[in-house]
Amino acid sequence: MESIISLDKQYVANTYARFPVELVSGKGNILTDVNGKQYIDMGSGIGVTAFGIAEEAWMAAVTAQLGTLQHTSNLYYTQPCARLARLLCEKTGMKKVFFSNSGAEANECAIKAARKYSAEKKGADCYTVVTLVNSFHGRTLTTLSATGQDHFHKLFNPLTPGFVHVAAEDIEGLTKLVREEKIAGIMLECVQGEGGVVALSREFVRAAAELAASNDIPLIIDEVQTGNGRTGSLYAYMDYGITPDIVSTAKGLGGGLPIGATLLGEKVESVLGFGDHGSTYGGNPVCCAGALSVIERLDEAFLAQVREKSDYVFQELTGAKGIVSVTGKGLMIGIKTQRPAKEVVADCMEQGVLCLTAKDKVRLLPALNIPMDVLKKAVGVIKSACADIKE
Ligand SMILES: *Cc1c(COP(=O)(O)O)cnc(C)c1O
Repeated sequence: MESIISLDKQYVANTYARFPVELVSGKGNILTDVNGKQYIDMGSGIGVTAFGIAEEAWMAAVTAQLGTLQHTSNLYYTQPCARLARLLCEKTGMKKVFFSNSGAEANECAIKAARKYSAEKKGADCYTVVTLVNSFHGRTLTTLSATGQDHFHKLFNPLTPGFVHVAAEDIEGLTKLVREEKIAGIMLECVQGEGGVVALSREFVRAAAELAASNDIPLIIDEVQTGNGRTGSLYAYMDYGITPDIVSTAKGLGGGLPIGATLLGEKVESVLGFGDHGSTYGGNPVCCAGALSVIERLDEAFLAQVREKSDYVFQELTGAKGIVSVTGKGLMIGIKTQRPAKEVVADCMEQGVLCLTAKDKVRLLPALNIPMDVLKKAVGVIKSACADIKE
């Protein structure tokens, strides 16, 4: 039998350090590899399969659309696209939505909207966007420039000009930038994901929102990872009591199909006009049908369950043997372990639990509807892997 692992190593670009596991199928929160070994999925494809694998309602919505009309381009109107845009606006108070295919693209659109707004209002030299140190905003050259982590940058210069980075929680530094530079946008993740699963403080996020509002600077909240119920509210910003001008999201939105969305608030709702932006696949009917099925079900009762499961994980792991700290929000959780995170993840995998890492932490992003008994089992395995330290 041909080895998929060696085929992949030979023909797929070497950009990923894959785990030595070949997954072939799944159901709910259980993934099965080519040898029939089963794993509890505590990563959900990096926060994407919001309702798990092959979940019935999502699958019914997607397959119905797939058999009706799978693509039209944006030259025509289609039902799922318009309905999803309405649902997102009704649930957030935002005014308009631009659809794309990924988180990076959602951020590209957000940056374009902020730059055009500020250029029109304040002049063509007002284009600099402030982002945070340790942020992550994507892999395209512009979103890479926005990403405040130098190690992503060094091989790809010159990057898109017009980005400056300030440390998270540095209100003074941010205030100074806004006062002294021509700032076209302030962009941040309320919980930094790739940067180590760190929730920003209310004080800092609110101060950033106030600075943006009082200086007529569009505030962009990157909800690619935190959005769509992941942190226990529909969007993470909602729990901070702020109103962004632009929200970008992707990952969990489509429940496993590629879709990005940029939500435009009142300040910028009309800034992108005919011809200013576009995407061949954007608003694809199948992806939008999947996203409708996800967003329709993220009501307050469901989100309360996400928070309950989160409380369980935090209580179980905080202060446990071998665990230094537990950070994050909702079902976006980072665990700083005494053992190297990679070893903990490898041991969990051996024991049938798939976890992620972020920086030096073990990261958990399970499906939002993970049943309590499955979650308990996985947390038990993770806890004992963390406790396995030499004393
Ligand atoms: C994953 C991620 C992105 C990039 O999303 P892609 O779909 O991989 O382009 C952008 N911002 C944040 C906060 C993310 O977590």
